Formats: sequence, C-alpha cells, structure tokens
Amino acid sequence: MQEQDHQLQEWVERVSIQYFGLPFRHRATYNGRLKSTGGRYFTKTHDIEISPHQLRNFGEEETEKIIKHELCHYHLHILKRGYNHRDQDFKQLLAKVGGSRFCKALPAGEKRKPEPYRFKLLCRSCGMEYMRKRRTDPRRYACGRCRGQLLLSKLDFISKT
Ligand SMILES: [Zn+2]
Ligand SMILES: [Zn+2]
Repeated sequence: MQEQDHQLQEWVERVSIQYFGLPFRHRATYNGRLKSTGGRYFTKTHDIEISPHQLRNFGEEETEKIIKHELCHYHLHILKRGYNHRDQDFKQLLAKVGGSRFCKALPAGEKRKPEPYRFKLLCRSCGMEYMRKRRTDPRRYACGRCRGQLLLSKLDFISKT
C-alpha cells in the first residue's frame, strides 16, 4: 500500500467513526483514473475509491464530503438499507453527516467521458437517424429532412459508467 493510500485509509476510518459511529473495515484507495466522479463504492468488495484530482482541485474539505458520500453507500449497504442515491435512507443519512450531494464536476481542461447515446429517432418516411442521449418524445419532433414521423428506439450499449 502506498503512503498516500495509507493516509487516505486512516482518513476514511476516522470520518467513519466520527460521523457514523461505525468502523470502516475495508479498503480505501486513490484512483487517478477517476475523473468525472469524485469517488466510488464497490458493492462486491465494499471498497472505496477516491479521485486524487478532487483533492488537488477542491482541497481537503470537499474531499471529506466525498468520503462521507461514499461512506453513506458503504454503511447503508452493510446495514441492508437503501444505499442508492434515490433511496430515502441514503438522502437522510447524507444530509445528516453533511456529505456532498453530487460529485462536483471537475474544472474544464480535465478530460471527461462524454455521455453515450442511448436512444435513436428514426424517420419512418426517409429512414434518417438522429442519435439522442436522453429519452425523447418522438411526437414532439419531425424529421429535419422530410418532416416525416419519427420513431424512438433504445440502443443497446455496453459502456459502463
Ligand atoms: Zn454515490
Ligand atoms: Zn425523413
């Protein structure tokens, strides 16, 4: 384990006891490949990863909020409570400990993964295709080429976030 990771491990353990009153018994490491998100929690291993870019760009205070956010996932998951972002348990615990609600976007210049296309609008008359990132109501639009009726379909995508 690297020195930096060792410090992060102690930091996460300290925050866990101080704000959650429960020990963190798994691994916390920095991951330099995390760029569009401040951290992540692995349900399989219970480990936590934190982006070192976050620390560099926003400092310790913001990073501690991200640690709290990941610890909310961690403790609720272990307690078999709602540990997803949309769950009430998660929202309440996050508010209580003062974790970051969203991972702050990194400043421009840092590379971010573009959002993938998940939907396709297909013109029923001329076959023209329009790629969409979000679900779109096809009745609200017409084909830009022939004004024909559009049909929405979902794309299969493999990319994980
Ligand atoms: Zn999260
Ligand atoms: Zn058309």
